[in-house]
Amino acid sequence: MKNAKCKKCGKPAVVKFRTYRISLCEACLPAFYESLVERSVKRHRILRENERVLVAVSGGKDSVALASTLKNLASKLNLSLEIIHINLGIGEYSEKSEEVVRELAEMLEIPLQVEHLSDFGFTIPAVRMRKVCSACGTAKRYLMNRYARLHRFDVVATGHTCDDFAAFALKNIAGGNLEWLLKFQPRAESFAEGVVTKVRPLFERTEEENLLYVKAKKLPFLADKCPFSPPKDEWKEIVREIERKKAGFMRNFVRGIAKIAAESGESVASVKYCKICGEIASSDVCAFCKLRLRSVVAGSENEMRRCTGYFM
Ligand SMILES: [Zn+2]
Ligand SMILES: [Zn+2]
Repeated sequence: MKNAKCKKCGKPAVVKFRTYRISLCEACLPAFYESLVERSVKRHRILRENERVLVAVSGGKDSVALASTLKNLASKLNLSLEIIHINLGIGEYSEKSEEVVRELAEMLEIPLQVEHLSDFGFTIPAVRMRKVCSACGTAKRYLMNRYARLHRFDVVATGHTCDDFAAFALKNIAGGNLEWLLKFQPRAESFAEGVVTKVRPLFERTEEENLLYVKAKKLPFLADKCPFSPPKDEWKEIVREIERKKAGFMRNFVRGIAKIAAESGESVASVKYCKICGEIASSDVCAFCKLRLRSVVAGSENEMRRCTGYFM
């Protein structure tokens, strides 16, 4: 960044948004970042006026950036916001995450709901399976959708990034999974009773940009990785490698895929509901209840008693 000047105010620049070929000082960065998110939201009709938005915040940089930018957009689109944080019961990591989210919610003055997975009869470490990360995803999706439906939110917003989408898209193209690829929408409308619309306002923002933003705004966030997350994500490394060679690749790639997905229309799969809990499912028992049953079998008798209590 030698001698570069901030494009907005002329002071010495500290960062460069390569995709946009713009250098900025720390003071001008947040407004620029927020204007990019606003542009995405309007261009792709991700959020509509007067919507009630449930914002999923884990405490990591991406979801923290999401909550803060939505706060900025709330007055412009007359949105009402509430944060949901899911405590997965992963020891110290979960305790720290919850603390960060509480601090953030207070700072942004957004009401906060914390759901504890243990209240549903199990924790992530109690689930005995090879890929524990997929259990986290299942539990989060289930609890967010359930809370949003019970409390009549219009949409659930998550902090999925350009990196997430680009890696996901490339992996599915390579695997020939067109069906999965077509689920790829910055706004995925509800497709069945009991399923709340999902929105991803940061789908054009890279994780690097999110980090610059939360640091410039001095927002609290947890830099620690979940102890269960895999040591590296090879698909993300690949798309970032391409991005290094061709600035803007990731954003253009996800835009292109979203366009294809939107033009191809939705294939409506037959919808089932879980025989145990009544939530949407792809077979007779939903993925969340399957996890719960797994942890009961593996867990202590005490956990089993709590779990049975929940079923009744
Ligand atoms: Zn500046
Ligand atoms: Zn279920």
